[in-house]
Amino acid sequence: MLALLVAGLAGKAVADSVALDAVLTKLAPPPSGEALSQIPDPGRKLLALRSYVRYGAKIADRWSWTKEQIKAFEGSPEHQALLAEIAAVSKHFRAANPGYEIYVHGTVRSLDEQLASWNNNDSVRAGAEEILAAYKAAFGDDGLEPAKIDVRRLGAWLRHFKPSKRASLATPGLTLHGRASAIDFQVMKDGRIYAGANSKQLQSVWRAEGWDEKLKASMEAVGPSFSGPLADPDEPWHYDYAPPPAATIASAQGAKLADILPATPGARACFARRYDAKHLREHPGQRVAGVTFLIRSTGFDDRGEWVLKPDGKYKYTRYLFAIRFARRDGKRAQTTSGECAEAEKMGCHVECDGCGFALEKSGESLLLRLLDEGIRIDGCDEKDVRLMPGADDKAFRAEKVAEAQCRALEKATLGR
Ligand SMILES: [Zn+2]
Repeated sequence: MLALLVAGLAGKAVADSVALDAVLTKLAPPPSGEALSQIPDPGRKLLALRSYVRYGAKIADRWSWTKEQIKAFEGSPEHQALLAEIAAVSKHFRAANPGYEIYVHGTVRSLDEQLASWNNNDSVRAGAEEILAAYKAAFGDDGLEPAKIDVRRLGAWLRHFKPSKRASLATPGLTLHGRASAIDFQVMKDGRIYAGANSKQLQSVWRAEGWDEKLKASMEAVGPSFSGPLADPDEPWHYDYAPPPAATIASAQGAKLADILPATPGARACFARRYDAKHLREHPGQRVAGVTFLIRSTGFDDRGEWVLKPDGKYKYTRYLFAIRFARRDGKRAQTTSGECAEAEKMGCHVECDGCGFALEKSGESLLLRLLDEGIRIDGCDEKDVRLMPGADDKAFRAEKVAEAQCRALEKATLGR
């Protein structure tokens, strides 16, 4: 009987909270309503809703990325640019403060992580108790019964309510950490967090030992896209990140490759070289009798799928390649594929540490220079067979030829 009663009460509580969410969501500008239903405590719910209501319709521009958006960001040129700047700050900090290191816990904080913190954080609990008490004072103890809520009055009340103390946590969905637009830099010593992103260490460690100034110095030296630290609330570890314009990232990534091929999805260029009998006679050690090289600009959409139509919707592009080496001894040709990129130099690499070759452009032809570790033939799951640079197989000059000459190679290695 008691068990039945308890189960019945629990069932009623669930029904009530569903009904409450249905009413409160009417006030929540999209997409914030979804987050509201994942905050079980009514006080914490009201406190979050207050932020959402005050933000209004423009909340969508600020809202944290979805799982799909986070996935699309990972590995993109924009992500790499952010990681490179964090690495530069870390390197500078390590050199300036021997024995200490920077620790960054991820570049994007998912909405799920934010909700979990919101539902557990102590400063949020204090704010939640305060707003719930004020709400009951204004609307009565039973004021949160779904049927009794006057949505318009509640909206107006939330807009005007001012908590006496601010929570030390941004409302779920609204932190810049949710869009890779803010980074917390913590200080690590001997593999442990020494000065963390933690308000309890603000005076005793960050200020007392000057880590705020030390971090700031590294930022000013090598972190041009970071601004900060956050002043309100006082977080010397928190820096906002405004990525350089996409065009800058794209041109830094493709300045030289773009000379070979525009970064338009589906753009292709084919290069080939067939060594004649005279050349081979003069190079007795050469094992490669011919090279066919395809480079293709490939778009990637939100889901990481290929976009090969020039007018297709894509998030970023990469240069993929395929190559075939015809062999002098008449054995089956060796083919492989991977990605071309440029750091200080242009180069093309096979996955799984398969190495590859450096790329140099001279006029309309390309020079492919094998790396010392050679180039891996076939995929990661096969045996590691490589074409190694030999006395007469170090570099191959290939001329631009009709795209059609690469079609079979493209289909065989890239699939399409
Ligand atoms: Zn932060």
